Amino acid sequence: MSTQSKEKTPVNGANDGFLEMDRRDFMKTAALVGGAAAMAGTVPWAINEAGESLMPAHALAQSGATSSYPLNKPEHVIYSICLNCHTACSLKAKIQDGVLVKIDGNPYSPMNLLPHLPEEIPLADAAKVDGKICPKGQAGVQIANDPYRVRKVLKRAGKRGENKWQSISFDQFIDEVVNGGDLFGEGQVDGLKDIYKLRDPELSKELAADSAAVAAGDMTLDEFKQKHADHLDLLIDPDHPDLGPVNNQFVFMGGRVEHGRKELAKRFTYSSFGSVNFYLHTTICEQSHHIASKMMTGKT
Ligand code: SF4
Repeated sequence: MSTQSKEKTPVNGANDGFLEMDRRDFMKTAALVGGAAAMAGTVPWAINEAGESLMPAHALAQSGATSSYPLNKPEHVIYSICLNCHTACSLKAKIQDGVLVKIDGNPYSPMNLLPHLPEEIPLADAAKVDGKICPKGQAGVQIANDPYRVRKVLKRAGKRGENKWQSISFDQFIDEVVNGGDLFGEGQVDGLKDIYKLRDPELSKELAADSAAVAAGDMTLDEFKQKHADHLDLLIDPDHPDLGPVNNQFVFMGGRVEHGRKELAKRFTYSSFGSVNFYLHTTICEQSHHIASKMMTGKT
């Protein structure tokens, strides 16, 4: 084998700067790719105008190229989703010694690599190819390993505003949230079991309809109270049926809850617990432009 054939050619497109292949291997692969492109017209590039090797991801994945990059082996890769914004990119999390050390785009996903790898490419080959992902997505490593990230349940250990906390077990947290009690030495605090009062869906519908009728002036408050005399204890305030059932005292206040968790939390709050009070980050900060849009256009 000549000296020239031993030269290594850097390959762009994935694990830049780490992946090397024999020039002979590259020429063979490029010829194969070029032939396939001519026949099928599906391969967008083999070599760019500057003469640099630019290989389609699937050719790179199956090129047999060797690499010293330690994280391009399938045992270091977990495929997941980035939830750092609404886009929910597909990502590959790279793990070393059980620790997340790098995040890149999932090369199988058209969101993160164009053209993306076909599904038939084995995981072992796909591990060599990284899709793109934005800096905020890559910062997921810092978020996951942030020493200030709250990993345990914190319970207030002083007066409100004193900023005193104690960590408690998850089991204790569930027990206190569900059953309530004198949780802070300040008297009884209701648990979820105490405010999960209205449990009959048919009665719930009837109370809601009659409450709306009172608000619209189609039913008097006295008529409402007479009709529902046996169930007034289920309401927050029988003189204000528009406040709804005691169940509404459960308020879900999430921060930036992204898709998946959001749907689950909504289902629990609305459909299981029967509370209308579900708030997220965008419930407040985005509300202004939704309201302005509706007022200007009459449409939601
Ligand atoms: S990688 Fe960037 S664009 Fe994609 S979901 Fe994460 S933060 Fe959003």
